[in-house]
Amino acid sequence: MQPDSPYYFVFLAYAGVIGAAIGSFINVCVARLPAGSSVIRPRSHCPECGCFIAWYDNVPVLSFLALRGTCRHCGTRISWQYPLIELAVIGIWVGLAVLYGPSWRSLTGSILFSILLAIALIDARHYLIPDQLSIGGLAAGLALSLLPGPVTPLQSVTGAAAGFGVLLAVGVLGERIFKKPAMGGGDMKMMAMVGAFLGPVGAMLTIFLGALAGSIIFGPISLKTQKLVPFGVFLAIGAAITFLVGDSLTRWYVDLLFPGA
Ligand SMILES: [Zn+2]
Repeated sequence: MQPDSPYYFVFLAYAGVIGAAIGSFINVCVARLPAGSSVIRPRSHCPECGCFIAWYDNVPVLSFLALRGTCRHCGTRISWQYPLIELAVIGIWVGLAVLYGPSWRSLTGSILFSILLAIALIDARHYLIPDQLSIGGLAAGLALSLLPGPVTPLQSVTGAAAGFGVLLAVGVLGERIFKKPAMGGGDMKMMAMVGAFLGPVGAMLTIFLGALAGSIIFGPISLKTQKLVPFGVFLAIGAAITFLVGDSLTRWYVDLLFPGA
């Protein structure tokens, strides 16, 4: 669809509305999954006074603005995190819609980026990656590969195996060398999910970029504070870069290794 088509605006508006709804759901996931609570029941309620939140007070971004960031019933401040995450996910869905137009690639990418954002937010705070996101995302990635998107079903299956297998190998090796667990099971399951979306080459590139970003950004902090590395955050960054520019990166690297090939 061309940007001058009269339907282009409608298409972007749809992408934005879906993004807002998913952003709202990610807020629920980030708040409830680490505690092991259901993301379906009970309905949204104020954590302070326990009042259920009416639908008109639960509209992404807009309700936050209308209520000036406070609970209608008890006046408690609502965290800025909620509208910010909603805006970020709207940005993901509209941004990829602009980049790839109305295509399966745009849909697949938006779903992948939404899962990655949820994982990164939870891993950064709790050092854990809920199975609902990794295993659930793995199922979504395998199913989406049946559509004519970025990867074939075979690439999706081998990608999942490669992503999981490489991190498992790194984990086993690391444990031998450092005599303590070097890689979380959550990271392995997350990479199975990423591999299902990006295929085997994409999974390798993600791990490489994730390790690189992790050591550049977190290395210095970790040395100073002895803090654990939330590796899922950096794998999420690596997977997003791979989805956007992975093909050009791989081609550039192959050219570098085999000039003129
Ligand atoms: Zn309240």
